[in-house]
Amino acid sequence: MKVDWLIVGAGFTGCTLAERIATQLDQKVLLIDRRNHTGGNAYDHYDKNGILVHKYGPHIFHTNSKKVWDYLSAFTEWRPYHHHVLGVIEGKRVPVPFNLNSLEMLFPRRMAERLECALLEAYGFGVKVPILKMRENSNTELRNLADYIYKNVFYNYTVKQWDLKPDELDPSVTGRVPVYISRDDRYFQDTWQAMPRYGYSALFERMLNHRNIRVLLNTDVRELGGLVQFNRMIYTGPVDDYFDYMHGHLPYRSLRFDFVTADQERVQDAGTVNYPNDYDFTRITEQKFLTGQRSPVSTLVYEYPQPYMPGENEAYYPIPREENREQYNLYLQEAEKLNGTVLLAGRLADYKYYNMDQAVARALKLFEDSVARGESA
Ligand code: FAD
Ligand code: UDP
Repeated sequence: MKVDWLIVGAGFTGCTLAERIATQLDQKVLLIDRRNHTGGNAYDHYDKNGILVHKYGPHIFHTNSKKVWDYLSAFTEWRPYHHHVLGVIEGKRVPVPFNLNSLEMLFPRRMAERLECALLEAYGFGVKVPILKMRENSNTELRNLADYIYKNVFYNYTVKQWDLKPDELDPSVTGRVPVYISRDDRYFQDTWQAMPRYGYSALFERMLNHRNIRVLLNTDVRELGGLVQFNRMIYTGPVDDYFDYMHGHLPYRSLRFDFVTADQERVQDAGTVNYPNDYDFTRITEQKFLTGQRSPVSTLVYEYPQPYMPGENEAYYPIPREENREQYNLYLQEAEKLNGTVLLAGRLADYKYYNMDQAVARALKLFEDSVARGESA
């Protein structure tokens, strides 16, 4: 078989690049994945109870990029969806990110009012403050509040999720869920928040439905041998794996997902409930909130953080911290020596904590900056 491009990995990164190359350059692509499906970690399917579930954990689409939104809109209709998360703190279910409503639910009224005034004075309304920043506030009362939020919302959740304390990670990690001086209870404030109306797998099917794209599943790139001839390659798997771990294993974090179907129409009060301080799981998500599906039963997914064990479980999260970035940079230098014959991109190949829209944005940029111009990345 001879193709112009071999693309390894059929997640958002690989599918976006395959689609662009096939439709915009009219070149032939072989897209392979070692899993038995396309979609990467965004893959969804109907479980045995007929509920649409996300096999690799709940995926909620949100973006501020009009470009990404417009691009994906060519392959799906959308169902408007604004995700809400409740965190169980001292036995109460309060909005996460922590906001003025959470404050009022957890503190006596007078005290909550005083703290609210102090927050508004220090930061202003509608402002997002990363918890590690708030802990540096010079006002003792606000620092105490920050310590309370740190202890009750962030510390135990983060240790469970990463096996690291919040200050041992890049501040951007806890900064994803900043304290929000607002009464907006949504988890995200992005301009576009929606779910693909017929699911992610249907979206991927439409992206890949082109005469220039062939898909080969259940195939690791190592098994291809000389069976396929190609001019250039795009690799979206783990970067350390690509280079045979020549600079050592990059650290990743894994998860175990437990799916439980309840014999009732609705179980939770919100799409996701976080359990920072109890249990071994971090959160429970009720899939029907996300998909809007109607059914007399409901499937929930519990997320249990796990150490990554190569060959036994999946490398879901790169671990953002300085020493890991330095190790990744050694691999980046190796990638640069490939002079564009192999391009690396994606959450695992870039070793970056991308959301779906960021993976698509990265793929579109790589296409424009180098693939379409026939240059290196
Ligand atoms: P992936 O989806 O990981 O795809 C890479 C593919 O490469 C995989 O299918 C893999 O099998 C394949 N592969 C790897 N090595 C090889 C090889 N050697 N040979 C063949 N194939 C190979 N983002 C959001 O925007 N919203 C969310 O709510 C959200 N929730 C998430 C929840 C969890 C639990 C996780 C783990 C991620 C979540 N994300 C979310 C992030 C999202 O999954 C990623 O941004 C996106 O999937 C990245 O796409 P990708 O193509 O770069 O990588
Ligand atoms: N986090 C936390 N408590 C929460 C929610 C989030 O400590 O209730 C921290 C935790 O470190 C987590 C990070 O913020 O890993 C990012 O959360 P997000 O929900 O964005 O994680 P993801 O959906 O990517 O797993």
